[in-house]
Amino acid sequence: MATLQLRNIVKRFDDTQVIKGVDLDVNDREFVVFVGPSGCGKSTLLRMIAGLESATSGDILIDGQRINEVGPAERGLAMVFQSYALYPHMTVEDNMGFSLKLAGVSKEERRRKVRETAEILQLEPLLDRKPKALSGGQRQRVAIGRAIVRNPSIFLFDEPLSNLDAALRVQMRIELARLHEALDATMIYVTHDQIEAMTMADKIVVLQGGVVEQVGSPMALYHHPRNRFVAGFIGSPK
Ligand code: ADP
Ligand code: MG
Repeated sequence: MATLQLRNIVKRFDDTQVIKGVDLDVNDREFVVFVGPSGCGKSTLLRMIAGLESATSGDILIDGQRINEVGPAERGLAMVFQSYALYPHMTVEDNMGFSLKLAGVSKEERRRKVRETAEILQLEPLLDRKPKALSGGQRQRVAIGRAIVRNPSIFLFDEPLSNLDAALRVQMRIELARLHEALDATMIYVTHDQIEAMTMADKIVVLQGGVVEQVGSPMALYHHPRNRFVAGFIGSPK
């Protein structure tokens, strides 16, 4: 079980307010997509949820507990970035098992968990390879695998597919949707790509200038955009 609530979240960098009072409810096992133009605050919001950035004010709750002061490693979340940031000198198996090693998990248990994850992601034949011998899509799968092995209650994705070519992006969207089913996990996914938002989300959160413009299902936003910005961004013909 993993729910997330944001209550009146504000983020200021120096004198500039970049997140201006965001409220949001993410339900258990929901796939929520943050969408909006570059600079609207998607990454900042995600980084505050992850604990990589502190909120200036407001509350972040996971399963009803305020976690603002809880460190990133203790939040039970895992984040996947656009840049894969794999360790170049380690094999796929060691990359995927590294966080478990740091957590003191035994070698046998690491091996079991990494193999199980590799099977889900179809990475088994690649476990002995180094990152430089992988394609972009394979590297991104390893980065996702690294998140899965930690059994996070909530996955956070920050534009994970934007470095991939168009065909691979389509394939990875399908894989992520399958993964969401298989893992029964709550996922929050950031993108500036309207098509990704429309095809992947249970719920879309449209952001502009640090403000939530509208929250709803893809069809609700498409058919009933609250304003011109949402209509333009989600692509309804109105
Ligand atoms: P997005 O991910 O939607 O493109 P960001 O969350 O990265 O947007 O940025 C939102 C705003 O906050 C931008 O105006 C950006 O310049 C600003 N910003 C982000 N991080 C910092 C920082 N560490 N210091 C100052 N300003 C920042
Ligand atoms: Mg960003």
